[in-house]
Amino acid sequence: MAASHTSEAEPELDDIAPIRRVHVLLPLPLGTPYDYGVSPGNAVTVGDFVTVPLGKRAVNGVVWGEGPADPNNAVADSRLRPIAERLDVPPMADVTRRFVTWLADYTCASPGAALRMTMSVRAALEAPRPRLAYALAGPPPKRMTGARARVLEVLAEGLSLPAATIAELAAVSSGVVRGLVRQGTLREVQLPAEMAVPEPDIHRQGATLNEDQDQAAAELRRKVEAGVYSATLLDGVTGAGKTEVYLEAIAATLGQGRQVLVLVPEIGLTAQWLERFENRFGALPLAWHSDLGTARRRLTWRAVAQGRARVVVGARSALFLPYSDLGLIVVDEEHDSAFKQEDGVIYHARDMAVLRASLGEIPIVLVSATPSLESLVNVEVGRYGALHLPNRIGTAELPKIEAVDMRAEALSESRWISENLITAMKETLARGEQVLLFLNRRGYAPLTLCRACGHRLQCPNCTAWLVEHRFHGRLQCHHCGYNLYRPDTCPECEAEDSLVAVGPGVERLGEDVDKIFPDVPRMLIASDTVRGPEAAAEAIRMIAAGEVALIIGTQIVAKGHHFPLLTLVGVIDADLGLQGGDLRAAERTYQVLHQVAGRSGRAQRPGRAMLQTYMPEHPVMEALISGDRDSFMAREREARRAQGLPPFGRLVALIISGREEAQVIEVARDLGRMAPRQRDVEVLGPAPAPMSLLRGRFRHRLLLKCPRGTNASVLARAWVDQVDIPNQVRVAIDVDPYSFL
Ligand code: ADP
Ligand code: ZN
Repeated sequence: MAASHTSEAEPELDDIAPIRRVHVLLPLPLGTPYDYGVSPGNAVTVGDFVTVPLGKRAVNGVVWGEGPADPNNAVADSRLRPIAERLDVPPMADVTRRFVTWLADYTCASPGAALRMTMSVRAALEAPRPRLAYALAGPPPKRMTGARARVLEVLAEGLSLPAATIAELAAVSSGVVRGLVRQGTLREVQLPAEMAVPEPDIHRQGATLNEDQDQAAAELRRKVEAGVYSATLLDGVTGAGKTEVYLEAIAATLGQGRQVLVLVPEIGLTAQWLERFENRFGALPLAWHSDLGTARRRLTWRAVAQGRARVVVGARSALFLPYSDLGLIVVDEEHDSAFKQEDGVIYHARDMAVLRASLGEIPIVLVSATPSLESLVNVEVGRYGALHLPNRIGTAELPKIEAVDMRAEALSESRWISENLITAMKETLARGEQVLLFLNRRGYAPLTLCRACGHRLQCPNCTAWLVEHRFHGRLQCHHCGYNLYRPDTCPECEAEDSLVAVGPGVERLGEDVDKIFPDVPRMLIASDTVRGPEAAAEAIRMIAAGEVALIIGTQIVAKGHHFPLLTLVGVIDADLGLQGGDLRAAERTYQVLHQVAGRSGRAQRPGRAMLQTYMPEHPVMEALISGDRDSFMAREREARRAQGLPPFGRLVALIISGREEAQVIEVARDLGRMAPRQRDVEVLGPAPAPMSLLRGRFRHRLLLKCPRGTNASVLARAWVDQVDIPNQVRVAIDVDPYSFL
């Protein structure tokens, strides 16, 4: 048997013993695993991470199965190439492999693309390298210099640090470190190749729970002890102490020796949460997010695979870490739309977390003060259990929410704060309490137009206006990053000084505030003004400590924080989220405004929230003011039921995009022609997307609507498979879409 195609460097398959054939899934957009041979004596088994040859490349993958060749598309035994290497990582758990398969099926992604999410850290698969560090050893050097003295100072407390770290901390070159080693002052030490993970101490005393909390915690402990799949909605008002309750479920899971995952919408803002976790367990959990450096990602991934990481807190991608024994998932702020991933493999992390829990036969807890309609309906029909915390901790009450009818306000130009709100702000500040002004718009102004010709400054690559960021002196597209200096003349009619900013963003609101409250220390928080988790943590700390009196922020301050001195929340434009044809616009606006209002009055002093609106009689505003969430959601539910919309029906969106509009239109038309013609299945479109140009690509959309219970993924995939799609055109399948742009 001549394996003529194998290169000399590759081991040859033994040609006497029967060849073992394994199927290896590669983290590439491929439909199926590829077959490889295993030499006798190579102890490769299903789940192992391996390196295999692919063309001229070596690629890492996972052994997905073993057995006879698929008769339809198999490589003959004689042409089978051998696995190059089994990697030094614990095998991927069976449940993770099933999760990858299910995820791919559900989202209409290729299994390889789904696998790639679990293998996002390539370096984690490499053998751990011993890391060298240096520590004090002998007498000080004969000749002492300032640089040397700084090195000794850095290592004074018996630390062992890598040369690069010493060099950085002591502000010296690494040559200084080497010099001290030669002198015998420092010695080389080996650091452990893997990360040391602090062990949470479950025997520490948590907060003394109130009666509601105690009952809820007991129920969650029972779910953990049952050790089977269950989904529970922990539904409690803002400030009810929900976190303390699920920390007890975490403690119970850790007591069983199993791992815990806590999913949060935005990891950058979890400083307070981390502090509470540390108070409870005496150790920090491992955080997982996109800002982690490569070394940290690598070590974390390995610690999770080895089971040494006990609790992981992370954004949606943390769901795809290779847990060795996951025993509980918590999804905090489960209603948050940030859980929806809109690029690549399109998925909703909350929904996929429920799937992961059911595959792993473990409990999952969904936590919110404003649960999604999806989850409420799941409770109603008995798919999820529910636990309620109707009251705030201690004597704190829910804030009083009122509307400010902007139709009755005569605000002058460049003024965004009503007299009513200004009065309330003055009173609050005079009492030494804090005010939060909420406006969900980054930058200075959302639109710049020419007073002379009416021209609006638009992004050349996207259907979007350019947003002025005056602080940076630029106009910027929030979709593709395109930006330019603010021009002095209109690019259309060349009139001079004719460009005007229209509408407020947080920067412009800041100007208004500075005019009215010139002496009040204030802070502006938006994702582009606070960069990185450390800066965010510092900002949150300053607010909680009362170091600023007035906070202006976007939705990033609305989420989950506990600011004891904050007693007034002013919403500048409560109507902002209600525009557009999104089926969840009302629900989402309710959730965001309720959450931001819920930042006030969380301690002893009563809170108040004022909503500036032109539609005070809108059901969303009425529900917020009356505090009657249940009637509002019941009405939403009936409207969705009547129209067969989620969660009573299923939707799948097809987004066709490409650089040549004619090609895009043709594919969209073909898809329209081939649309499934089935009773109960309705197809809307094709039509140009509301965002008809995005990052230079033209976009058209189709929307499939079918009853709940239909396998919408299978239907969509079969549909798309019937149409020839040229390479330059992309058809994204968005199962359960949340964005309709
Ligand atoms: P939620 O997540 O429901 O909005 P939190 O869990 O943030 O509420 O709790 C609000 C505040 O009350 C936090 O500062 C928390 O530390 C505190 N807290 C929670 N439970 C208790 C308790 N049983 N006793 C005292 N303080 C508590
Ligand atoms: Zn753009």
